[in-house]
Amino acid sequence: MQGSITLVVILAVSVVAQATAAWIALHQMANGIGRYRAPWGCVALALVLMVERRLAPLWRQIEYGETSNMNDAIFGMAISLFMVAGIYGIGWLFTDIKTLANTDSLTGLANRRNVLKCAQREIERAARAKRPLAFMMFDIDHFKRINDTYGHPAGDAVLRAVADVVRTELRRIDTVGRIGGEEFLVILPETDQENATVAAERIRSTIALHEFLIGDARIGITISIGLVVSDITTNSVTVEGVLKTTDEALYAAKNGGRNRVVLLP
Ligand code: GH3
Ligand code: MG
Ligand code: MG
Repeated sequence: MQGSITLVVILAVSVVAQATAAWIALHQMANGIGRYRAPWGCVALALVLMVERRLAPLWRQIEYGETSNMNDAIFGMAISLFMVAGIYGIGWLFTDIKTLANTDSLTGLANRRNVLKCAQREIERAARAKRPLAFMMFDIDHFKRINDTYGHPAGDAVLRAVADVVRTELRRIDTVGRIGGEEFLVILPETDQENATVAAERIRSTIALHEFLIGDARIGITISIGLVVSDITTNSVTVEGVLKTTDEALYAAKNGGRNRVVLLP
């Protein structure tokens, strides 16, 4: 009797572990990455079925009051628990791969692919909700001089510091990404021309006033900003179009003397 109670407990733990593993596997399939989703789901479910096949005969032992095969039961429970841990751990792998694929490794900002994907999503959302949407492209002025004077690693440190400063100046709903060497794109949802200009000016002046530390040296830098506020209600806005117009505005800011914001309609 004592033995069969232990067996029931062991099997119950195994069943709960398997159900958890299956649930995590299904969850990971739903949140998985593109074409890896289905194969991973198949492996995870196959594991669950394999363990189930091993445990099924043990239930019969309880029915017949047999307790001889306790080792099998413990073994089944162990693999059920390892399975949960393993399947759960693979979730970290998915999360890490997603993060790596979407993040700029130098600055920790969204990378080009990610920020353009966000831009597409925001354009669609703004068009649906008929809400204003602003885009800002900025580029560090005379950045080559920093590399030439202080070296490439110092240039990298400045890029990271610029990213940190800009990040703190933005709202949670904004997205900033590094789209090129020292060129960034900011997406400002729910932002009309007036507010976008205020935000761009704030970022420009914060960078211009900030002291960037390079070893013992403190240097100042400036950025030029091209700003575009999409009239999404009347125009058919595309990501390519946004990149083109923000780039034109940025070019105008550079030509106008740098350290300035140029707004294009
Ligand atoms: P402008 O005011 O016209 O923008 O002048 P600039 O010197 O900033 O522009 P330019 O495009 O001539 O130079 C950009 C420099 O940025 C050249 C390149 O070596 C440097 N750069 C690009 N990517 C990186 C990077 O990841 N790290 C570092 N340290 N430098 C980079
Ligand atoms: Mg530059
Ligand atoms: Mg540049």
